[in-house]
Amino acid sequence: MDDRQMYDNDGQGWDCSNPDCQHGGHIDKLPFEPRSADGLLCFECKKASAPAAPRRDDREMFDNDGQGWPCADCGGNIDKLPFEPRDTSNLKCRDCFRK
Ligand SMILES: [Zn+2]
Ligand SMILES: [Zn+2]
Repeated sequence: MDDRQMYDNDGQGWDCSNPDCQHGGHIDKLPFEPRSADGLLCFECKKASAPAAPRRDDREMFDNDGQGWPCADCGGNIDKLPFEPRDTSNLKCRDCFRK
């Protein structure tokens, strides 16, 4: 989304509130209009302070109460799915799914 509105405080920008800012301490533009300049961080400081993005492995997996599901194709067991299936009659294991 490159066309979202950016705010620049009437061309003045804001100061980064990180006293140890390594990036000049100036914020040119923000994708939102801050209500207060307190606690504003420049993009780099924000990135540094943000918690790391969750790893893909951490996403919730479903295992049908530990039983898994039968594969509709080969009859094999599907022990985990990244979603809770609504219709279990046409589930495919990873191998069959790839075919
Ligand atoms: Zn900064
Ligand atoms: Zn299968």
